[in-house]
Amino acid sequence: MPHVSKHPETQVLHAAWRADPATGSVAVPIHQTTSYQFNSTEHAASLFALQELGNIYTRIMNPTTDVLERRLAEIEGGVAALAVASGQAASAYAIKTLTRAGENVVASTDLYGGTWNLFANTLRDQGIEVRFVDPADPENFRRATDDKTRAYYAETLPNPKLAVFPIAEVAAIGRPLGIPLIVDNTAAPLLCHPFHHGAAIVIYSLTKYIGGHGTSIGGVIIDSGTFDWAALPARQPLLNTPDPSYHGAIWVEAVKPLGPVAYIIRARTVILRDEGAALSPFNAFQLIQGLETLPLRIARHCDNAVKVVEFLATHPSVTRVIHPSVAIGEARRRADTYLSGGKGALVGFELAGGAAAGRAFIEALQMFYHVANIGDSRSLAIHPASTTHSQLSAEEQAATGVTPGYIRLSIGLEHIEDIIGDLDQAIASVSAVKRD
Ligand SMILES: *Cc1c(COP(=O)(O)O)cnc(C)c1O
Repeated sequence: MPHVSKHPETQVLHAAWRADPATGSVAVPIHQTTSYQFNSTEHAASLFALQELGNIYTRIMNPTTDVLERRLAEIEGGVAALAVASGQAASAYAIKTLTRAGENVVASTDLYGGTWNLFANTLRDQGIEVRFVDPADPENFRRATDDKTRAYYAETLPNPKLAVFPIAEVAAIGRPLGIPLIVDNTAAPLLCHPFHHGAAIVIYSLTKYIGGHGTSIGGVIIDSGTFDWAALPARQPLLNTPDPSYHGAIWVEAVKPLGPVAYIIRARTVILRDEGAALSPFNAFQLIQGLETLPLRIARHCDNAVKVVEFLATHPSVTRVIHPSVAIGEARRRADTYLSGGKGALVGFELAGGAAAGRAFIEALQMFYHVANIGDSRSLAIHPASTTHSQLSAEEQAATGVTPGYIRLSIGLEHIEDIIGDLDQAIASVSAVKRD
């Protein structure tokens, strides 16, 4: 592919696709088909035996989705990717590819609410234990590890605390133990490159910044190809012992001719095949459209967020601003190390006046959308204490970083004067509200 360069601005437009060989179509076609005609019985047999990779059935792979997968793998610096129907499916499958009932994963406490529920309840009910540890001290991951630990899991830029995760520190604890670090990089695409810091697997909710337009739910798992799954075979039994669900294949051996892809091939050919959360080709197409402008968008998101932080920091009704650009101490060092491409567009702040002020602020917004989402091109706001975190006790809310007056903003792409104008008028209207 002579047109593929190393720069993301170019990769989002050119990686993994030039033109359709049959029609010359430059845009990636939507292959809205369930199945694919085999050339011969021999061809069919070799596809099923994984001697050759190719299309069989859209639950397992699809040519439109394939372009999205290969493009994302190239941008992230990985060897291969698996797109799935949502970010939730990506995190669940990333773990199930390695972990069975009776085994465990060590995860950061600072997680997206949906991931928290999946880990604390649904996976636990299926026999997979997730041990939550505070990432303030990376050694907590080692302390929670035992011989049944199959993976470490964390988010680069978790909200509401917006405290950047120590990727290299935890990856370095895991590698000699044969334990991969899986990083959810949803809030920091292009801003952080987790593979450069030793992460083995990256996942995204494509629903957020990568899609950008707020039209399509999707997720992806990307394999760095740098993790040695065979180094300590007892640590990763699902990749190192015969898999009865694929006629006794030992994945690290079986896929050797295809490259260092044992993990991502098992994710596709066993977990996606059996659990079935396939991305629709139409959504893959929509996500490809969004991805084309990600480098432009993410830079503007970050620029606008920094200006919002500057505005809030000097506002007399604002008691605290939370953003990696204003972190101090070790949190600042982590932000500078891992968010080298920009500090992200999620901004937290606290209003004097507590919960009543928080709710009144949300009611007064005119342009910002009040939604439980991040990463849209539009600016979004939510008051976690009365919504996403309302089922938690006051102590639990405090532990997750949610105070009564905390507001989470996802700064969009509107003109900065309009963004600040809406915040300014909403904060002004709150001053009238009685404090609680
Ligand atoms: C939204 C989100 C998810 C879940 O993704 P869906 O596409 O909504 O299933 C996972 N992790 C993070 C950090 C998210 O923001």
